[in-house]
Amino acid sequence: MMSIWAWLFGPRQTPDSQIRQFIDGIAEGGPAECQLSINQYPHFRETLYERLKAEGLGDSKIVHMVKDSLVGVCPQCGARMNGEYLDWLWVTGNPDLSVVFVSGGGRPERFSQGKCVIEWCSSRHVTLHWQPRQSGG
Ligand SMILES: [Zn+2]
Repeated sequence: MMSIWAWLFGPRQTPDSQIRQFIDGIAEGGPAECQLSINQYPHFRETLYERLKAEGLGDSKIVHMVKDSLVGVCPQCGARMNGEYLDWLWVTGNPDLSVVFVSGGGRPERFSQGKCVIEWCSSRHVTLHWQPRQSGG
């Protein structure tokens, strides 16, 4: 249960039901989009991987799909981050996952704190777009 202060002053959280709907859209082949708080990205990523594994996809296939199809856009400054970059930010900024944790205001550190990677931008949200490449095109 989130405290009243976090609810009042923290970034607006996207309901789980909406994240699941987005992931359903992805599992059905997309396109789909959803706005999240940046601090919800790890939860989204974990849920997406679980869902796609349940569909019978292997890890390397999922990594490729995310790399090819996922784009994050900051709703405030318009910074674009592809799936590979989002994963790099997530892994690099997380001391539990990475030995290359960058301290001192780096982009992964900002991302791990739930902030837009652009230093002058105060956004705490990211709009995720799932745009699968058409096969054969
Ligand atoms: Zn931004």
